[in-house]
Amino acid sequence: MSLANWEIVIGLETHAQLNTASKIFSGASTAFGAAPNTQACAVDIALPGVLPVLNRGAVERAIRFGLAVGGRIAPRSVFARKNYFYPDLPKGYQISQYELPVVSGGGLRIKVGLPDTAEEKFVRLTRAHLEEDAGKSLHEDFHGRSGIDLNRAGTPLLEIVSEPDMRSAAEAVAYAKALHALVRWIGICDGNMQEGSFRCDANVSVRPKGSDTLGTRREIKNLNSFRFLQQAIEYEARWQVETLEDGGRIHQATVLFDPDTGETRAMRSKEEAHDYRYFPDPDLLPLEISPAWVDEVKAGMPELPEAMRLRFINDYRLPEYDSQILTSSRGMADYFEEATRLTMGMAKAVLGMTGQAPVLSGVAKLVSNWLMGEISAVLKEREMLIEQSPVSPAQLARLMIRILDQSINNKAAKDVFTALWSGEGSDADAVIEAKGLKQISDSGALEKIIDEVLAANPKSVEEFRAGKEKAFNALVGQAMKATRGKANPQQVNELLKKKLGA
Ligand code: ADP
Ligand code: MG
Repeated sequence: MSLANWEIVIGLETHAQLNTASKIFSGASTAFGAAPNTQACAVDIALPGVLPVLNRGAVERAIRFGLAVGGRIAPRSVFARKNYFYPDLPKGYQISQYELPVVSGGGLRIKVGLPDTAEEKFVRLTRAHLEEDAGKSLHEDFHGRSGIDLNRAGTPLLEIVSEPDMRSAAEAVAYAKALHALVRWIGICDGNMQEGSFRCDANVSVRPKGSDTLGTRREIKNLNSFRFLQQAIEYEARWQVETLEDGGRIHQATVLFDPDTGETRAMRSKEEAHDYRYFPDPDLLPLEISPAWVDEVKAGMPELPEAMRLRFINDYRLPEYDSQILTSSRGMADYFEEATRLTMGMAKAVLGMTGQAPVLSGVAKLVSNWLMGEISAVLKEREMLIEQSPVSPAQLARLMIRILDQSINNKAAKDVFTALWSGEGSDADAVIEAKGLKQISDSGALEKIIDEVLAANPKSVEEFRAGKEKAFNALVGQAMKATRGKANPQQVNELLKKKLGA
């Protein structure tokens, strides 16, 4: 089998749960985790005679999305009934949109690969439509029987359908991540994948390299992690290539991914596929969205990640790499801007920083380095989001100030940060004071220490004079040790060079 002779084609259908407080057609709560069937009202369980009433907040979120991806917002769209039988669907149909979706067109710019060398690609969107979620069948822990929980029935979803524009599992994951970041960024979905708030169906086909007709696709249902998405597509594409190279045929089908085996297996084939008998729902008026409403939503939109990324490069003179990472989530971007603004403010007001004024780009780069380095590392280790950081932007700013005015060196700054993070101290200055971390930059004091180091290490001095560069580093190390790491390393270097006549 040779994947190299084949091209993989992928289109994703993504369900993003909209974060409204109540359901799309009823007033019942959408909160996750309540006891089964305590959040399903007469409309959700489809008692006779009830009527759906559309949630304005769900529509507003769909408009937000349409604006964010540059799609067309339909002035008039229609809700349709998608008919099928399943125990967790009390009405016997799902209210969705079919021929006239609320959003069509638009697209998403994705980056594939590491930020430095990433290739940019535009993935076109076909449409995004509003629909209601179904309930859940519970097969576990139910006294050997299955149960139905209708709490999720009627939860608002935005189904976002992409064109078959992706050509590898990596591209599909990059697209899913960009979409995930975007819906959270514009505040329409909490993005919680464990709770099912964001899940993808991947349509996968393969075709011989160079061919421009699409192969037959199989659809992998309900992938609720980026890792599963990657694994499922890789497995599926291989399986399809193997099948075709063995002389077999691909039949259009819906398949499930089993995370335990890493394999996909057919759930139902097109032959037994449903005929949904879509028709407009007579209980709901067509959804009309006026230009004034669109303008109102537009006015309340936050700056979008792409615009912010370009602004970071322009205004802060940050490298492309930094800007990309800092705008990977709104929380990160907001934290960065807040910490930079506060550090700049303090540097100007409090410090009267010795010599020249702090330069915005320098301060921004310092904050960026801390966010991408120390802070990201501990967030990752603890599996936390920046929004949960126990060190606030203001606390970080006070630490940045002490690095900028050279009160502390880099090693001490890390100790201060650890103390702030663990709650051992709440203010950088207090921690520096309590731990005696202040950097020794007094050249008189340093000179004395260096004289002592030179006197105590005649062998290193001799070796250095004999041309051994390493001996110099050993002497720097001794001086740092003598100051318990608090010396200004640059100054130690300079003083040592002077004394050794180097
Ligand atoms: P359905 O509504 O039956 O799922 P659609 O035609 O709306 O079918 O397509 C659903 C998704 O499948 C879209 O994301 C689309 O881009 C993708 N898709 C369609 N044809 C192919 C194909 N041959 N290979 C891969 N993806 C495809
Ligand atoms: Mg589909």
